[in-house]
Amino acid sequence: MQKSKKVADLHVHTYLSDGTFSPFEVVKRAKEEGLDAIAVTDHDIVSGVSQSVQFGEEFGIEVIPGVELTAEFEENEVHLLGYFIDWQADWFLEKLQQVCEVRIERAKKIVEKLKERGLDISEEEVFKTSGPGAVGRLHIAQVLLKKGLILSLQEAFRLYIGNGKPCYVKKFKLLPEEAIDMIDRLGGVSVLAHPKTLQFERIDFEGFVKDLKRVGLKGVEVYHPDHSNADITYFEGLAKKENLLITGGSDCHGLGKGEVLIGKVRLPYKFVERLRSITPCI
Ligand code: AMP
Ligand code: FE
Ligand code: FE
Ligand code: ZN
Repeated sequence: MQKSKKVADLHVHTYLSDGTFSPFEVVKRAKEEGLDAIAVTDHDIVSGVSQSVQFGEEFGIEVIPGVELTAEFEENEVHLLGYFIDWQADWFLEKLQQVCEVRIERAKKIVEKLKERGLDISEEEVFKTSGPGAVGRLHIAQVLLKKGLILSLQEAFRLYIGNGKPCYVKKFKLLPEEAIDMIDRLGGVSVLAHPKTLQFERIDFEGFVKDLKRVGLKGVEVYHPDHSNADITYFEGLAKKENLLITGGSDCHGLGKGEVLIGKVRLPYKFVERLRSITPCI
């Protein structure tokens, strides 16, 4: 029988950020989905990488060490994926520690704001949901949903905690160029995550991508569950025009967003090879 072509899912979260699967479960699911490679890209934390790599070796799945850094540009949240990073660099771990401390304070502020609006949730409930990793808004949305205070996770973002909504609180302020520079210093490859989430009407998107490329951006996440076919065509065209690498991933959060998405984006392995080919340390 002919072996089917190798495929990868380059955007997966574990429960170290706001996914619900442990590194073991992520790798096991990747195997079940017939994936050959995954990238573990938690928000502002890399504590899940070592174990994922280790389980990947046991299951015969290539695990690319990654991260999804949160940056901010003119009130827009910009997520930057870093692939093939040196996830053990001391300076990086120290920086992420600071970011996670800010996340804790921010979660407390969001809870306060929700309480002021009569939504009865507590810090304890949120921290119990997030566990020891990086706490985020999805955890808060999950608590609100569990307590019946909203009808869907989307509603939490739409009414309360989405960007610019009444209970939104900013995070650690990192500029996109700083995030790209950090990924560079880690020997990694930086990719603009799910560009659809950027608010196009408020920024010149193509100009923004060109500016990021000038400061070292290497790729664009073209394939993502939130992207329609028209979005994919547009982002692919832009990536090609700007000579940026094309990547994609499911952005799986386990059960964190309802549906388990791992393997729903299956990227031909040649895209992984292209990513790897531009890392400085091969
Ligand atoms: P945080 O890192 O705390 O800012 O939260 C980011 C998380 O919230 C990511 O997992 C996003 O995918 C998720 N998120 C942001 N906006 C929405 C939305 N409108 N609906 C569902 N999830 C969202
Ligand atoms: Fe997330
Ligand atoms: Fe993201
Ligand atoms: Zn993500």
